[in-house]
Amino acid sequence: MTEKQYGGATGRGSGKVVIDNHSPRGFISKSKKSNEVEKSELSSEAIAGFKKAGQIAKKVREFAKEIIKPEAKLLDIAEKIESKIIELGGKPAFPVNLSINEIAAHYTPGHNDINVANGLLKVDIGVHVDGYIADTAFSVDLEGNEENKKLIEVADKALEKAIETIKFEIPINEIGKAISEVIVSSGFSPIRNLTGHEVNRWFLHSGFTVPNYDNGNTTPVEEGGYAIEPFTTTGQGVVYESKPSEIFIFQGRTGVRDNLAKEIMNYIEVEYKTLPFCSRWLVKKFGQRAILALSMLKQMGAINEFSQLLEKGKGKVAQAEHTVLVSKDKVEVTTL
Ligand code: MN
Ligand code: MN
Repeated sequence: MTEKQYGGATGRGSGKVVIDNHSPRGFISKSKKSNEVEKSELSSEAIAGFKKAGQIAKKVREFAKEIIKPEAKLLDIAEKIESKIIELGGKPAFPVNLSINEIAAHYTPGHNDINVANGLLKVDIGVHVDGYIADTAFSVDLEGNEENKKLIEVADKALEKAIETIKFEIPINEIGKAISEVIVSSGFSPIRNLTGHEVNRWFLHSGFTVPNYDNGNTTPVEEGGYAIEPFTTTGQGVVYESKPSEIFIFQGRTGVRDNLAKEIMNYIEVEYKTLPFCSRWLVKKFGQRAILALSMLKQMGAINEFSQLLEKGKGKVAQAEHTVLVSKDKVEVTTL
């Protein structure tokens, strides 16, 4: 998944931490001197966790490429991908996003979705192992369209360039600059209000955001896990929030009278914690009544719903994404 920016600075601190952090984030905090910002470094346990999730994500991505065919039902594709994640020993870090054409991100099939794969399809896959996250995406042209192919090729190139660029303590806008240069010189636009993001244990979007253009943020990159995700478009390079996505995230417990809603809230808190989930998963577990319960929970503020993100100029959109681990002396792509 991706992070939408609402204007203002995009750097550390802009991430929305949604509930109290009751689980360790996989970092060892180092003692700080009074004149120093607190720095943290990756523990060996965190590195192992991120890598394990990354290798599962890599296999699942290859599997997804094999099963996706024009006119295949999105619902079947999503379920097969998510089952594969579990079969390989991970759990979905978020519902598989299958976003077509000008839908840039955050479309996952509903439990009775009848839409089929077509056009320019973006497949965004998240895996976690005990909270350690891998986030990876690719795009596929399902209509034999040259422009789609070019958009995909440029997104892939921009990602490659970004991975070459990122390193410990480099100003974060250098990554955006590298991405944007590749895309603009190919005649397309990057989507400026979508960004990559730091990944922390149990937190998909937290800490740093990784811009897709030079946004002037010179904050140096710290050690950690980062999802880098350039988006290319023929449109305006801006997304807006459209219809509800049926992808939700837990906000915190609230007083709910309805028994099923209460049961579902408990389940969400334990099973998904701070990671996104979808109505489809809950209908599978609790039946159709889960839909009404979710709308109650949303009304009570226990959960928030993501919106589908559409390109403003109705331009087609391609996306490429990998997760990298930045340490002081090296950068490793966990999802390759
Ligand atoms: Mn992402
Ligand atoms: Mn993603």
